[in-house]
Amino acid sequence: MSQDATSLAYLIASVLFILSLKGLSSPETARQGNMLGMLGMAIAVATTLMAPHVVGYGPIAAMIVLGGVIGAVVARRIPMTSMPELVAAMHSLVGLAAVLIAVAAFLSPTEYGIAGADGRIGVGSLVEMVIGAFVGAITFTGSVIAFGKLKGTFGSAPVVFRGQHLVNLTMAMAMVAVSVHFCVTQSFASYLVVIGIALLLGVLLIVPIGGADMPVIVSMLNSYSGWAAAGIGFTLGNHLLIVVGALVGSSGAILSYIMCRAMNRSIWNVLFGGFGTETAESPQQAAAGKGAKSGSPEDAAFLMKNGSSVIIVPGYGMAVGRAQHAVKEMAELLSEAGVSVRFAIHPVAGRMPGHMNVLLAEAEVPYDQVFELEEINREFKDCDVALVIGANDVVNPIARSDPGSPIYGMPILDVDKAKTVMVVKRSLAPGYAGIDNPLFYADNTLMLFGDAKEIAERIVQSL
Ligand code: NDP
Repeated sequence: MSQDATSLAYLIASVLFILSLKGLSSPETARQGNMLGMLGMAIAVATTLMAPHVVGYGPIAAMIVLGGVIGAVVARRIPMTSMPELVAAMHSLVGLAAVLIAVAAFLSPTEYGIAGADGRIGVGSLVEMVIGAFVGAITFTGSVIAFGKLKGTFGSAPVVFRGQHLVNLTMAMAMVAVSVHFCVTQSFASYLVVIGIALLLGVLLIVPIGGADMPVIVSMLNSYSGWAAAGIGFTLGNHLLIVVGALVGSSGAILSYIMCRAMNRSIWNVLFGGFGTETAESPQQAAAGKGAKSGSPEDAAFLMKNGSSVIIVPGYGMAVGRAQHAVKEMAELLSEAGVSVRFAIHPVAGRMPGHMNVLLAEAEVPYDQVFELEEINREFKDCDVALVIGANDVVNPIARSDPGSPIYGMPILDVDKAKTVMVVKRSLAPGYAGIDNPLFYADNTLMLFGDAKEIAERIVQSL
């Protein structure tokens, strides 16, 4: 393939990726966005395979088949509720790839076309390699820790110790010094030290992040993985990879900013604050004295059918219980009975950006019934029933009232302002942020204890 044809194909792929991102910004166009992204990736891969410096197809084909089979098996097996962990695991692989490619380029500069006439690597390429390996290494270990936190292996509580910021700062400064030494001497040992410090920094930067702030970290790591891919693009001299990496990097950064705004956090607070510390009192202890009222699915059906408006607030528990289809059926029956039914989505409900939108779309809930926080929050005071299904942190009024709470300042869905609030969950246990929720003990709240799907199905039967 000629250089011009390659450039043209890469340009077309880049445009398709941009259109794909645009499509992904709304549930209505997300499928089309995905298709455009896949088409762009197919063009990108095919064009790269036809490049003149590709000398043998055997190992590439073997790796594509191996990776494809692993990917297909994992994608089929993974439950929707484990998606965030999968995403974190994928980010870690991008980071690791960036590190390995940077190391390979250092060890075989001629093959990568970065060796000068004297066989030494130019300073520009060395700087690129340091930055690529640094971002890749931080992405790798940071994503591994995020994976463990999301999966529950490490627990979601922040790990903080005295002098943490000082340790991080010292390591960052040491890394800059060793990087300079590496660029001057081209010592492989210095390069490994740079990578080692970056790997450690990845761990240290993520362990102090508390449960409530994990959404921002997931999108930040998404952004890092994009920059790591761009770094690989520089090392390989592949323009398309630089463009794609920059698109992922910048869209992830924008998403992090949006998430921070949604949670009323400054990005610096999230990165260096160690938010999300658990309260000393256990929720069970707190619950004991307060007494929550509980009702049955039949009570819930009666109350909703006799109201004129219902707002349903789904949360992580709806995903765990796979209740979205039963919830959709319930909403349909209520609508047929003349009740106005709307869904309210909090930006960080569930465990990944857009988690609830994806589930509701899968259950084919009409998009015009689905509203974002700022569109619907004022409506709760006029609605008869707010039905909370497996949501907890995103409806916790303590975020408005208790400056000592780790979620203080995060905008919440104001369900407590509805005439009646019904909360479907299995116990009084806290949500991801690990804090008690006074909503459960409010006068106008009725707890519907049980699995989200079972309760929704019983409400459907009663209706
Ligand atoms: P929460 O994690 O606050 O609460 C979910 C609730 O669902 C739990 O209290 C649990 O209570 C209940 N639940 C679990 N399984 C079931 C089931 N089968 N049936 C019924 N209920 C169930 O979820 P929210 O969606 O309200 O908030 C999301 C939280 O996750 C926020 O703190 C957010 O910061 C964080 N987060 C969000 C990410 C994102 O990108 N969206 C990423 C990472 C973290 P019980 O055990 O009593 O049933």
